[in-house]
Amino acid sequence: MPRPRLTPLLVAVGSLALLGRALLPADAVPAVPAIAGMSDRVVLLDPGHGGYDPGVIGPGGEVEKEIVLDIALRLRELLAAAGVQVVMTRETDRHLMDPEEAARLGSRKRSDMEARLRLAGEARPDVFVSLHVNSYPAPRWWGPQTFFNREGHPDGERLAGSIQDSLNRTVPGADRRANPRNQLFLLENLDMPAVIVELGFVSHPAEARRLMDASHRDALAWAIFSGLAGYFLAATPLSGR
Ligand SMILES: [Zn+2]
Repeated sequence: MPRPRLTPLLVAVGSLALLGRALLPADAVPAVPAIAGMSDRVVLLDPGHGGYDPGVIGPGGEVEKEIVLDIALRLRELLAAAGVQVVMTRETDRHLMDPEEAARLGSRKRSDMEARLRLAGEARPDVFVSLHVNSYPAPRWWGPQTFFNREGHPDGERLAGSIQDSLNRTVPGADRRANPRNQLFLLENLDMPAVIVELGFVSHPAEARRLMDASHRDALAWAIFSGLAGYFLAATPLSGR
């Protein structure tokens, strides 16, 4: 079977998803068509942190847990419009830590991570996408970066590369590469293709400001959506589900 022509399809669907509502009168808005190769896929979106755990905080008070949740909700909308079944580890400002388990494990963070892993075990997603924001003592570092586990699922690297390429095409000047990272607890313990997307550095003043901007958040959500679409469309067809 010939491979579907990716770019025109994505552009068409993207235009509909992002612009359709703004440009067309309400009664003329077409339904966004489900994309062959994406519909019936299951994506687990994991906005990092939440509740008691703010994640990193920028010098201007930019808070990781709020940025990643907002972008995850924008991404969910795009994926749902393409027919993807989206499961989220959290949809509000909450953590997943269980106090009793945290006491037993001696770590609130570990209990929170275990709960996210359990959700992945129950949902059995095709891919797991965890969203985070970076921070570094030196303020010059910037740009989104995607991580995968080389010892994890063999498709993790391709997934990370597809998302990273898309982010680099979307964010002017961004040129980081998808990186293997083997000591990340979440990635080490997932058996489906899994990535951590660091959306940018709040320690970089200009990028921190951009991360607070709605149109930049839309662009990042679109970039990840497009990276996922590329990954799924290039993948072998669904088998038996
Ligand atoms: Zn984080």
